[in-house]
Amino acid sequence: MRLPRTSDVVIIGGGVLGTSAAFHLAESGQRNVTLIDKGPIASGTTPFAAGQTGYLNCDRFALKFGTYCIEFFENFEERTGHAIDFHQPGSLRVALTERFKQDLAGRHDAARELGHPVEFLTNDQARELVPTFHPPDDCRILMIPRDGWVEPKSVAVACAAAAVDRGVAIHTGVAALELIVDGGQVRGVRTDQGVIATSKVVLAAGAWTRQFGQKHGLNLCTVPVQHQAFVTGPVRNVLAGQPIVRITEPQIYVRPEQGGLLCGGYGYRPLSVDMNQFPVDFEIAALKADAVYYRQLCQAASKFFPSLREATVVQERRGLPTISPDGRLLVSECDDLSGLIVASACGVGGIDRSPGVGRVVAEIVAGDLSWIPPDVLRVDRFEEDMTADPALRAQCEDTYAHHYHEIY
Ligand SMILES: Cc1cc2nc3c(=O)[nH]c(=O)nc-3n(C[C@H](O)[C@H](O)[C@H](O)COP(=O)(O)OP(=O)(O)OC[C@H]3O[C@@H](n4cnc5c(N)ncnc54)[C@H](O)[C@@H]3O)c2cc1C
Repeated sequence: MRLPRTSDVVIIGGGVLGTSAAFHLAESGQRNVTLIDKGPIASGTTPFAAGQTGYLNCDRFALKFGTYCIEFFENFEERTGHAIDFHQPGSLRVALTERFKQDLAGRHDAARELGHPVEFLTNDQARELVPTFHPPDDCRILMIPRDGWVEPKSVAVACAAAAVDRGVAIHTGVAALELIVDGGQVRGVRTDQGVIATSKVVLAAGAWTRQFGQKHGLNLCTVPVQHQAFVTGPVRNVLAGQPIVRITEPQIYVRPEQGGLLCGGYGYRPLSVDMNQFPVDFEIAALKADAVYYRQLCQAASKFFPSLREATVVQERRGLPTISPDGRLLVSECDDLSGLIVASACGVGGIDRSPGVGRVVAEIVAGDLSWIPPDVLRVDRFEEDMTADPALRAQCEDTYAHHYHEIY
């Protein structure tokens, strides 16, 4: 298929955000949409994710956004005929200290107001559901039945397929080199296979988003930070349908994966990267392991899951999710470049949040942002002190390091 010469909208990036944007644009009636990716679909950070979903929040906007996302995963196959590999065993959110026990109570009340059947569990009840979990005596545990996890690549693949069904043209193996700009307005995208004339570009280039913006003098405050998880071989008493366990204070998550445990966590050596430090053909799969991070993560998680001490690691996962200084998404048109819509900074939650991001992108393109307050996700909301790379990176590392500690 030849690259089109013109398109009403061009999406750069075929990870979960770009493919969800493509699906939502087409579903909302937008015609003549083209998505390009320099690799195949889902060739960035997406396939390395743990894929967990978690919609419950005390913040009204975040809850509305999260509820749309969870309903999207629940209904996608029926809506489109394409399957997302979605498991919904629920999650146990565990708080060890007073501050986070209060946060759990807030989440409990928010869910109950919506009529969702969350409940506090005793330690014995939690162990019945997750036999390998050793909860400390004085913790509080909230069971959230609607939580779950997806096989992350399946989200991008299914969204791409449903987008194609609705008329989107997808071109893989096509790299965007730069935007063509005239009078502060996007006029096209120059790719390694020719120019596509367009007045609207959705930049969903994952870890490369900031670097791409720099080519045009834009300071997009979205920084890639290395995140890691590991998967063990089969572990005795792991149940295929057991809930995810998220423990707030040590910032650890553990879920079942093919008879073993998948374990990840935040705050263990937060390390941001400047994509200019890598060669042009760098791929996420080539990211080097931070062995200290893995060791600290395993030590911290073993206190609650002692079987991790003896388990064999069969897979390491790592990638470069993008973080903003305040930990919130960036999804809006740029003030300084008309026609450029950025979709980035989903934290370590891009799979989970991709449906909502796609919906916002479609509303921006349609000029009807009625779903969410437009300022919340604005790309240009940061102060001048975030212009310098070191300050921005330090702030984003700090935000990442406290991901589970953020209380809305
Ligand atoms: C270990 C780990 C665990 C995680 N766990 C979870 C989890 O449990 N739940 C959750 O929701 N999230 C999780 N995440 C985060 C999630 O993976 C990311 O938030 C999400 O994948 C980001 O998607 P994206 O579309 O923004 O970026 P990417 O998946 O990186 O996609 C960007 C795409 O843009 C393309 N691209 C870049 N530049 C160009 C260009 N110039 N021209 C053309 N194409 C270009 C790339 O090839 C790539 O395919 C985890 C991440 C890691 C690493």
